[in-house]
Amino acid sequence: MGTKARELVGAEVKKIVALLNKAFADEWLAYYQYWVGARIARGHMRGAVVAELEQHAGEELKHAGMLTERIIQLGGTPVLKPEDWYKETNCGYDAPEDPSVKALLKQNIKGEQCAIDVYKKLSDAVKDKDVVTYHLALEIMADEIEHEEDLEALLEDMTQR
Ligand code: FE
Ligand code: FE
Ligand code: MG
Repeated sequence: MGTKARELVGAEVKKIVALLNKAFADEWLAYYQYWVGARIARGHMRGAVVAELEQHAGEELKHAGMLTERIIQLGGTPVLKPEDWYKETNCGYDAPEDPSVKALLKQNIKGEQCAIDVYKKLSDAVKDKDVVTYHLALEIMADEIEHEEDLEALLEDMTQR
């Protein structure tokens, strides 16, 4: 990062990089949870659910990329070992042990709600300190809000009769 840009972020750089890395770990775990869930899904409306899970997997991976880019800009290093994702994660990993589409949707809705919280807290933490990270957190949060909405709509369609 350039001198002026570093000056803007100031003394908080390390703390911000740590928060970004925790969100980065969440994104990889969310990515895999969606990716593997899409492959084992079973039941009613399977096609529609799989399409949504695959789309979200791609978007979580994109989020991981956006976070890495900012971590590197701030002079940090993204988490290098997958085993450390478990140490850094805020939201954890919910193995899709029940492959029914309803169970998958509920699990992933829970994950999205956690993700929304993570980006809300991140945006609050950096609001007056790092405007670039602030905008990044809001941009990702908007996607997570959409993810929750999409999954809840599918679950609703499924439970309505
Ligand atoms: Fe995400
Ligand atoms: Fe998401
Ligand atoms: Mg979607």
